Amino acid sequence: MTDQELLLLAEQARENAYAPYSRFLVGAALLAADGRVFLGANVENASFGATNCAERSAIFAAVSAGVRDFVAIAICGAKQGGRGTICTPCGICRQVLSEFCNSKLRVLLGNSEEYREYTLAELLPHSFGDEVKA
Ligand SMILES: [Zn+2]
Repeated sequence: MTDQELLLLAEQARENAYAPYSRFLVGAALLAADGRVFLGANVENASFGATNCAERSAIFAAVSAGVRDFVAIAICGAKQGGRGTICTPCGICRQVLSEFCNSKLRVLLGNSEEYREYTLAELLPHSFGDEVKA
């Protein structure tokens, strides 16, 4: 799967976002080592605290299916009606990604035509958990 194909899946996942409060729609496509792709979208809630981000929706779907080995995640976010822009994962999602992904996880941000690539280590240096998991 190419980066562009993974980003296109994130764009498509974004169409299922439920974001009536922020109107900021996010989709994520998480590529597992076995080639499967797990999609997620942000799901907001009137209580706000119960809101779940697209990235965590995707990783929870994957882990719930028994998959814990990942190589890349594409994230596409933008205000309703806009095209996906560079939307970095929030701190909670970075921490959750670090629970299941190594620091070399490729993180693709943008859309299928324009994107930036980071590693998880670049987005979450000195993460909590490495010592705990050792
Ligand atoms: Zn998040």
